Amino acid sequence: MDSSVIPAPVLSVLDALKYAGYQGQIVGGCARDLFLGREPKDWDITTDAKPEETLSVFPDSFYENDFGTVGVKVEPFHKEGRPDREHDVIEVTTYRTESGYSDMRRPDQVEFVLSLSEDLSRRDFTMNAIALQVNDPSPSHTDRTIDVIDPFHGQEDINRKIIRTVGNAEQRFGEDALRMMRAIRFSSELGSPATEESGWTIEEPTLAAIGKHSELIAHVSQERIRDELSRIILSERPAEGVELLRSVGLLRYIIPELEEGVGIGQNLHHALTVYEHNLGALRYCPSRVLEVRLAALLHDVGKPRSKRGDGYKSTFYNHDHIGARMTKVILQRLRYPVAVIDRVTLLVDNHLFYYNVGEVTEASVRRLIRRVGLGNMRDLMSVRIADRLGSGVPKAKPYKLRHLEYMIEKVSNDPVSVKMLKINGTDLMNDLKMTPGPKIGAVLDVLLSEVIEDPSRNIRESLLVRAKELFEEDLSSLRDRAKDVIEEKREQDDKGIKNRHKVA
Ligand code: ATP
Ligand code: MG
Repeated sequence: MDSSVIPAPVLSVLDALKYAGYQGQIVGGCARDLFLGREPKDWDITTDAKPEETLSVFPDSFYENDFGTVGVKVEPFHKEGRPDREHDVIEVTTYRTESGYSDMRRPDQVEFVLSLSEDLSRRDFTMNAIALQVNDPSPSHTDRTIDVIDPFHGQEDINRKIIRTVGNAEQRFGEDALRMMRAIRFSSELGSPATEESGWTIEEPTLAAIGKHSELIAHVSQERIRDELSRIILSERPAEGVELLRSVGLLRYIIPELEEGVGIGQNLHHALTVYEHNLGALRYCPSRVLEVRLAALLHDVGKPRSKRGDGYKSTFYNHDHIGARMTKVILQRLRYPVAVIDRVTLLVDNHLFYYNVGEVTEASVRRLIRRVGLGNMRDLMSVRIADRLGSGVPKAKPYKLRHLEYMIEKVSNDPVSVKMLKINGTDLMNDLKMTPGPKIGAVLDVLLSEVIEDPSRNIRESLLVRAKELFEEDLSSLRDRAKDVIEEKREQDDKGIKNRHKVA
């Protein structure tokens, strides 16, 4: 390896440490990635300088966390760095060990140590325990040599694509159970896409130790579990990752609801079990957006609880709505942000939307957009494509879906929300002298439901006339009216869904 693979700002941080009399090496994921020929996401440096000492070497630096990490701000250098970014951060961490994981979440205390080798031995996997020492340029060469410090033979494991703990696996998982999930996360992240060969394997004693101690994951915080889960879901081989979680016994502590689908057969039209199909949808999900991938994985999670009957005649009425409720519970438990939970839940709730060319009206497409939001339509289509591909249907985007895209485009400027009506509450109060109150909103809702059916009614004058009529009615009948239109229509739309349930 020559030093040209190392960005100049990283070299200057190393040089500044050395100049101040400290040691410093490149370490962890970035060293691993260099041996893999990948561009490292971030650069970590390990040093014998204590955090305060590091802070004083670099004026533009700050404490990152309680574990001895200092962030040093440098010129932006990442290829994928946004041009507007003011700086990149290089993490400089003091040589340390972690001791006593009484709650299995965080080390009770980190202890700074004097040697690099002690620091390397606390790291999780051999591939992550390699350090690179960049030497000074010699007078005759501009290039700088690099010494590889690799006490646990990480390079060998990288070449053989093997994930192996540093030291005794059972003991290392006993210290920090999250490492079990990290092993699986790396195996799904480092492999090439599932369509190609060349996966990574977790070596046998490490895998066996995960199987033996899977229940320890119950002690790890949901936030840490969530972050590893998200990385698995966004990886090159997400379905393999989730299946591995299941086969070693971890999934039942993370998303037990998914396991309800194991061995649950579907009907005439499905060769796969519910669990296999959910995984299939994740495997073929065309989107790289976390929410969409989560929705693909969870889209049929409600099927086992809604299954009626057996064999080829079984039905799953309402599994979309039951699944949406379960999705919310799952993602809340994993402490996903509210915005993520809402979006995934919405996608699961609406994944069965009915669409058949010639049968579905523009108004029903407008109702779908009103329910889902124009901004989510593309994601909803991705979930549907994942659903299809995940059941072994060969064509990702049949004519039907392309036609729906065309319809969405066509109605995309039509009014689907109260905001898009040509009158608003203030008009009602000023022009019609309506008194402020909940009735105003109810009138607008009825107007909207009528305009969704027929956008040509969205004309100021005629809306005012209609509003005047409506204002004579009492509040509850107005609310019923708006609800009736929406629900009656939803029922019509759902009739299509019911037919689809039978075949889908
Ligand atoms: P990524 O490419 O995802 O950043 P990474 O290997 O850099 O991979 P990080 O989570 O950034 O992973 O951790 C940096 C390094 O810190 C790891 O390479 C490993 O040496 C060490 N490490 C991180 N988490 C643990 C852990 N739970 N137990 C032991 N060592 C860990
Ligand atoms: Mg990293």
